[in-house]
Amino acid sequence: MTDCVFCKIVAKQIPATVVHEDEATLAFMDIGQVNPGHVLVACKAHVENVYGLADAQAAAVFHAAARVARAIRAAFNPPGLSIYQANGIPAGQTVLHFHLHLLPRHDADGMQLVWPVKNPPREKLEEYAAQIRAQLA
Ligand SMILES: [Zn+2]
Repeated sequence: MTDCVFCKIVAKQIPATVVHEDEATLAFMDIGQVNPGHVLVACKAHVENVYGLADAQAAAVFHAAARVARAIRAAFNPPGLSIYQANGIPAGQTVLHFHLHLLPRHDADGMQLVWPVKNPPREKLEEYAAQIRAQLA
C-alpha cells in the first residue's frame, strides 16, 4: 500500500532499525521506546489488522514474536514483557498495518492498561461463547 508507513519500512523506503527479518515478517525497534528494547513485529504484506491475517501469516508473526521476545529477555533481562496488539482505532491502533508490540516491562514504568472488568454472570459467559462458537463452526 503506497501511503502506509510500515509498507514503506518493509520496502526499505523509510529507514528502520531492524532486529529480525524473514520471508513473512519484519521486526524493528519502535521509535517511541516506551522502555529500552521495545520492538514491533509486523507482517511484511499489507494486512490492516488481525481479521485479514492468513493462517500462515498469523503463525509467522507469532513465531517471530516468540523468538524476538526471548532475545529481548536475554539482552535486557526485564522483569516482565507485555505483548500488545490493537485492531481498529478505538482499540488504540495508530498504524493500520498489522503489528504487535514486544514491550519490556519494569516495576512502576508508567505503562498503564485500564481493565474495567464487568464480571457478568455465568449465563452471560455462555451466551457470549455461543455467539463466538457459532462463527467458528
Ligand atoms: Zn502497510
